Parts: sequence; C-alpha cells; structure tokens
Amino acid sequence: MNTVASPHFAYRQDTLYAENVPLAQIAARFGTPLYVYSRAALTAQWQAFQQTLAQHPASADALICYAVKANSSLAILNLFARLGAGFDIVSGGELQRVLAASAGIAGVAGRVVFSGVGKTEAEMELALNAGILCFNVESAAELDRLNAVAGRLGKTAPVSLRVNPDVDPQTHPYISTGLKTAKFGIPIAEAPRLYERAAALPHLAVEGIDCHIGSQILSVAPFAEALERLLALLDLLEKRNIPIRHLDLGGGLGIPYQGTDAPPEIDAYLTPLLDQLTGRKKLKIMVEPGRRLVGNAGVLLTKVEYLKPGEEKNFAIIDAAMNDLMRPALYQAWHDILPVQRSQRQSDAPAPIFDVVGPVCESGDFLGLSRPLALAAGDLLAVMSAGAYGMSMSSNYNSRPRAAEILVDGDKTHLIRRRENIAELYALESLPPAPETA
Ligand SMILES: *Cc1c(COP(=O)(O)O)cnc(C)c1O
Repeated sequence: MNTVASPHFAYRQDTLYAENVPLAQIAARFGTPLYVYSRAALTAQWQAFQQTLAQHPASADALICYAVKANSSLAILNLFARLGAGFDIVSGGELQRVLAASAGIAGVAGRVVFSGVGKTEAEMELALNAGILCFNVESAAELDRLNAVAGRLGKTAPVSLRVNPDVDPQTHPYISTGLKTAKFGIPIAEAPRLYERAAALPHLAVEGIDCHIGSQILSVAPFAEALERLLALLDLLEKRNIPIRHLDLGGGLGIPYQGTDAPPEIDAYLTPLLDQLTGRKKLKIMVEPGRRLVGNAGVLLTKVEYLKPGEEKNFAIIDAAMNDLMRPALYQAWHDILPVQRSQRQSDAPAPIFDVVGPVCESGDFLGLSRPLALAAGDLLAVMSAGAYGMSMSSNYNSRPRAAEILVDGDKTHLIRRRENIAELYALESLPPAPETA
C-alpha cells in the first residue's frame, strides 16, 4: 500500500499509534467516531514555516497567519497562539474563537487579518473594536462600507486589497480561487484604481497587498507567477505615491494525501518566493497557511459496524460518515484508510475490495472507494490526513452528534471537545402552540 508516511501516526509492530499512544486505546476510552490530533505534528509544521521565514533576509519581519477555517478547535488555536501565530479569519465567529482561545496571550488581536467576500457591518465593528492587524478587502463596495463603519466608530481601518492575479493553481475547481472567474478578490487590472480610491477615503489606511489563489496546490510555479504580478502592482502603486508596507502571500500549499502526491517542502515553497523579493524595499511578509499546518496532524478514527458483501461490490459500513468528513463527498477527495491493528487477515493476499461508506442516507456518503482491506466487523480504521477541513466542515446531518476530538501529546491524551449528545442537537428548537381544534 502506497500510504503517506508520518512520524506522528505510525505503526509499531502492527499497531497504529498517535505519537506514543495506541489509537485502539484512545478509541476504547473515548469512543468513535473520533478526531485525534498530534501536538508534535502541529508544532513541527509550524516550526518549518517559522524557521524558513526567520532564515531569509527578505522576511526578517514575518507573520504566519494560521487560516482558522481549516480547523478552528480552541485547543489548536491556543497552541498556535502560544507559538506566536497570527490568524487569518473569514467571519466574526472565527474572530471570537481566536479571542476565546488566546485569552491571557498578549497581542493576538493585533495579529489577525480578516479575509472573505461578505463581511457584514457587525463583523467589521467587532474586528475594528478588537483592533485587528488588517482587513483584506475584496470589492469596491466593501471599501465604502468599511470606511463608513470605521468613521462611525471614530477609527481608521487598516486595509489590503485581496488581488486576484488570474493564475491557475491547477487544483480542484471548488478550491481554486485566483482565476478571473472566481468570486474572490479584485481583478488585478482594477486594483490600481481601487487602491487610489482606498487611499482617498478618510477612515481607511492602505497597508498592504494580499492574494490567495487556491488550496491544495502541489507546485511552486503558480505562487511564483502570482507574486510576480503582485510585485508589478506594488511598483506601480509606489510610483503613484501609495506606499505598501506588507505583502500577504495567502495560503494554499498542499499536503500529501497519498504516497503519489509530492507537494513541495515548506522551505522549497517559501525560499524561491522570498528570493523574488531580494533587492527590494523591506516589507513585512505574511503567509496564511491552513491545510499545511493541520492536515496531516489529524486522523479520523472509526469502527466498522457491518460488512455487506455484494455481487458487484463489497461495502464496509463504518460509524463515521460524510457529516464527519465531507471532503470525499464534496471534492471527490482521497484519504488513505488504514487498519488500526494489522493482523493475519491484512497480510493474506489478496485483500478483498471495499467501498468504505457511512450510515447517512446519501449515495455520496463514502470515505473511500475500492479499497483493498482485510476487514471484520468491529475493526477500527484510521482515515488519514483528516486534520484540515474535517471537523470544521462537519455537520449534524441525519441528527448525528459530531465527533469528539482528542489532542495527543507524547504519551498523554487530552479531550479537547467532548462528544455532543442528542438533546443538544435540538436544544435550540421549540414547538409552536398546538393547532386550535374546530
Ligand atoms: C482558506 C484560506 C486560506 C487557507 O488555505 P489552505 O489551502 O488551507 O492553506 C488562506 N487564506 C484565505 C483567504 C483563505 O480563504
């Protein structure tokens, strides 16, 4: 099996571990379905970004803004805040999560950038009152609204324009955001005019240029092309007396979901981009990684409920479903699926082929198709690379309580979100009065 190697989720003999804890032991204690994250894996990815930026002269002043939507667990936000992270948010709710997760850690609000095409007035107010670092503005109408809200509060809003450089990141169309046809960002040809407008508005302060071209990008070329276009814009703006202090390169660096994926290492991605800045005026450099920081730091643990052999297909019906991990249904995404205990069954060739499916009433409810697995009912499986866009996209569809979450740290396990109970799922609902009878 050509699976993704991870030092933090690895077999010892035939038993799959999270750091120093057998996954079977975690499942026995906390039940399934269950998200399990590795603190060491999260920290290692963070440090790879941090060290590359610290070593390059072009990024002497740098800020890593973790993209909260990839995984917005308070425990994970807290871990990154302690490491000195900034945050890229896309809603007022995410800002409140960041603030709740970082109470007692100084300066976090001042390291938040606010992206997204639909910021409401209430969200702008919240962010202005919190004193965030920058608004990444995505339209002319948003500039006007932000100017008005800031004026009303007697504040000045720091802004970047999120520029759409029209490069093809060659990823899944649903996670490709930097093409002309996308709803995101401001077309680069219109950017100079909007920067002039922003500079003229009394309650805005132009700070930087921002872009984010897509997600799960597996080569450096689209990033380099986008940066080249941003730098041309920057030169033009400075000629027109609009000084730029920071450059936000966005997120989007991919992770290996299977052994055949070969995304660049973090330094191989960042160094050529930073080299493009050599010889220029010093800028504060920002990046907004989401998936790369958390994706391979988590797995979804699940139990096989039933085997259902068929004439055409065999089904393994598990206790996790599309409501827990939506990526396969939404993007036809691949996740490796590994047995938590390899056994004699697993080594006897050839393994039967299974579609690994959940109990939800949708044909799209699968976590993996046509997988060779030697299984029995009751076996535990680990759905790998589930740390990003897993729990954060989960729902209660079919009235399924969402999974619990565990953070493993060496040989310790911490429950970071308990399992929901059913009464909580309808706690906000109420019944109308009984109809009057005639
Ligand atoms: C989603 C998002 C990111 C993070 O993308 P990843 O592919 O997870 O790195 C960064 N910036 C913005 C504006 C986003 O919307």
